[in-house]
Formats: sequence, C-alpha cells, structure tokens
Amino acid sequence: MSITLIWFRRDLRLEDNPALIHALEAGGRILPVYIHAPEEEGEWAPGAAARWWLHHSLQALGGELARRGAPLVIRRGPSRTALEALVRESGAQRVVWNRLYDPAVIRRDREIKAALREQGLEVKSFNAALLMEPWAVSNRSGQPYRVFTPFWKASRALGAERQSPGPSAPAHLPGLSGAPATESVEALDLLPHIPWDTGLAATWQPGEAGARQALARFAEKALEDYDRGRDRPGRTGTSRLSPHLHFGEIGPRQVMAVCTRARERAAGGVDRFLSELGWREFAHHLLFHFPQTPTRPLDRRFEDLPLADPREVPFEAWCHGRTGLPIVDAGMRELWHTGWMHNRVRMITASLLTKNLRAPWLEGARWFWDTLVDADLAANTLGWQWTAGCGADAAPYFRIFNPVLQGERFDAAGDYVRRWVPELAQLPDRHLHRPWEAPAAVLRAAGVDLDRDYPRPVVDLAESRRAALAAFEHIKARP
Ligand code: FAD
Repeated sequence: MSITLIWFRRDLRLEDNPALIHALEAGGRILPVYIHAPEEEGEWAPGAAARWWLHHSLQALGGELARRGAPLVIRRGPSRTALEALVRESGAQRVVWNRLYDPAVIRRDREIKAALREQGLEVKSFNAALLMEPWAVSNRSGQPYRVFTPFWKASRALGAERQSPGPSAPAHLPGLSGAPATESVEALDLLPHIPWDTGLAATWQPGEAGARQALARFAEKALEDYDRGRDRPGRTGTSRLSPHLHFGEIGPRQVMAVCTRARERAAGGVDRFLSELGWREFAHHLLFHFPQTPTRPLDRRFEDLPLADPREVPFEAWCHGRTGLPIVDAGMRELWHTGWMHNRVRMITASLLTKNLRAPWLEGARWFWDTLVDADLAANTLGWQWTAGCGADAAPYFRIFNPVLQGERFDAAGDYVRRWVPELAQLPDRHLHRPWEAPAAVLRAAGVDLDRDYPRPVVDLAESRRAALAAFEHIKARP
C-alpha cells in the first residue's frame, strides 16, 4: 500500500492544493502533517497576531481533514527530525509539500528534500502560493525586475492572469487506519496569554471557509468600485484577503478566477485589483532574488542615511496611536485592535516613522510583523522599503506623506478617524485632521481638551520634512 505524507505549511486549504492533488493521484493512503518549528524561521517566526491566526487556521484545517477521513497530525520541529520520524512510523514512501519563498525556509526545505531523497523517498514540491514562480520572470538580460510595471507586464505576457485553479476540495480523503500520535493545536501555545485578541476574534474568520466567504463578499460588494474604493480607509473597499492569502487558505489562482469571471460587470475594478495581486507577486520576486532585503535596504546608499537619535524617537507613541496626528493614530489603533491596517494608512504611518521621525524602517517593520495578522516577509519588506524610499521601485525619497493632507483627502468625511479615535468624534470635519489648529471654542464644544484627552503632534510636520530632506542630501550624491 503506497502512503504519501503531505506536509502542510502555509497552504492551509484543501481546494486548489497541488501537493494534495498529487498525493491523491499517486493512489494509496495519505498522512496530512503540520510541524511547528518557529525557530527555523529565525527572526521572522510568526509574530503574536499571526500566531493567533495560525491557531484558528490549524483548527479549521484539522476539522476539515478529520471530517473527510484523514486527520491532521501535528508535531514539533525540528522539521527534518519530525518528518523522518513520521515516515518511519507510517511507512510512507513519498513526501510532498507546497513551496514557500522566505530565504530561511528555502534553505531548510532544500536540505530536507536532499536528505529524504537520499533515504530513498520520493519527494516533490509544488507551487500553490504564486501565479508565477519568482525565477520564471526576468528581463531581457536575464536579470530580476526591480520596477513593478515592466515586471507585471512581463508576468502577464507569460500568462500570470491565465492560471486556472486546481480542483475543489475532495469529499473524502483516504487517511491511515492507525494514524501516528499527534499534538493538539492548543499544546502549541499560539494564543496570547493576555487577552488582547478579542478584536481579532470579532473581525476575522480564519480558515478556508472564511477565505471563501471574504472573496465572495468582496466580489459581490466592492470589486466593481475597487479602483475608487480602495483608497478610502473608512469604507470596506478592499478584499481583506491578505491574511487568508498569507496562510494559503486561498490561493491567487482562485482569487484570479473569481475576479476574471466578474470582468464584464466590473472591468476597471478587476484590472486594478489584479495589479494588486501583481504587487504580491512582485514582493515575492524581490524577496527571492534579493534575500538580504528583510534587514538591509535594497538601495545600499540608504545604509548610511543619517537617522534620528533613537532616544528622541517617540516610538511608543507611534506604536500605540498617540502621536497627535489623527489618521496615524487611527491606523495604529486599527492595527492593534484588528491585526490589520488599510493600505493607504500603512503608507502614511510608515512614512511618518521613517521620514518625519527618521527612525530605522526595520523598527517599524518589526512592529508590523508582531501585530499584523497578514504579516508577510515579502509584502512587509516591500511595503516598508517602498515607503522609506530605499527599496525597488520605491516612492522617491522626497515624497513624504503629509498625514493631515492625506487624511483630508482620503478620509474627508472623517469616518475612519472618528471610528478609531473616538475622543475626536465630535470635532467638525474641517478640524478633525488637525485638532491642534482648532479654535479653543470648537475644541470645547467637541469636548476635546488637548493634552488631557488627545495629544498635540509629537513632531512638527514642516520642520521634520525639511530635516528628512536634508538627511537625504547626504546620500544623494553617492553612486
Ligand atoms: P486588497 O487591496 O484587496 O489587495 C488584494 C491582495 O493583493 C492583498 O490581499 C495582498 O495579498 C495583495 N496586495 C495588495 N497590495 C499589496 C502591496 N502593496 N504589496 C504586496 N501585496 C499587496 N501586505 C501583506 O499581505 N502583508 C504585510 O505584512 C504587509 N505589510 C505592509 C507594510 C507596509 C508599510 C505597506 C505600505 C504595505 C504592506 N502590505 C502588506 C501591503 C498591503 O497594505 C496589504 O496587502 C493590503 O492592505 C491588504 O489588504 P487587502 O487584502 O484588503 O488588499
């Protein structure tokens, strides 16, 4: 009897899962496995919010697998030792998984693949996470792209938008009759010990079913208007699929297929949305080809950028939404409460930290890493380096987001700020994004006592902008 071990990682779904399909096509029985080995991801082991997600996603996957007849076996790492033990215990001849692209994981997987093959096992890996493999797209001189538009154009020419998803989840799975012993999800201790996760639980439904629902909701309600709605943090104008995509509860081919079907009624929205999936691909392309970038700027000149004295950076105020700049505070509180932040506000908050406050971008990236449910090494690195001006296809360094003007433009009616900074809710729209300039009578009428209820800005926007540009002059002349 042939037995195939399927190593689940961040592909926590049964539909459109190439490793699972391969295992089933091989015939015989299957053994689904998850191995908890955060130390193998080094500094980029899942942060607190992602661990919360992982706990619930594993529970969801475990339930679906058990219902179909092949319960999930959970073990602790090291991954190689756990896999070898499970191969021995089950008598598996074959091990399959879907690929991941974080540098530390690539290294580990290569070693494991070689070791298992040496032991005579058949080992295969598949692509479940991307439309195109990062090595499949290159420019005319065979080099990786560093600019998004030509990258996406080349990816589309190679068929990125024509990828079809694999089959839907099988109704039954041929599990082993005496499956090896398993740990429980609870025993992995992924949930926080202090209960800051109530907002997460109220906001999200981790797991494949939650992902499918989020996609259906988005396709029905927001896709058509996506090119306008995507920049309004006060509306649900985007898909909120990012944590589902990160954990592989849904794959980009499935998302693409649903959106392509909607093209007739929602053309502008669909094209714009597909190009955001393109940014996701681009992020993975960059991480694969420039594996040093999670900690080092792609543009090496920025290694010498003069930064502020760390003792003078109000990092705590930034983290906890107490900067006195309403849209920044709204974003940081949304992040803390829900584990997610709107893309525009991610850019605004990151720009304040890296430019006006001249803190290292990595500090902000680490905070996001711990607090985002969608924390993703490729997308987070790209987002921070893009905003800080030191990455591929980055915003030019002199483009410094002004949080007041951004707030007035993208949250003109103030829905977003009023929701997350309720102490300012009674301020009229025209003062909402700059409360420190509001006349005393207006503040009084709105029940706002600056310093007591809400802080004054931690930084002078105009002055800090000038200082950031002066710091940039230091490196501009360098090759
Ligand atoms: P939608 O607008 O519905 O987009 C659909 C999907 O496309 C997203 O789910 C995501 O997978 C992908 N996508 C969209 N925009 C981007 C982008 N700029 N880069 C890469 N992929 C994109 N995204 C993450 O998934 N994880 C992160 O850790 C992360 N960190 C970021 C940090 C900063 C400083 C910035 C500026 C952006 C970051 N992003 C990150 C990108 C983006 O903000 C989120 O992907 C997006 O807000 C998720 O919401 P959504 O699913 O509703 O997006």
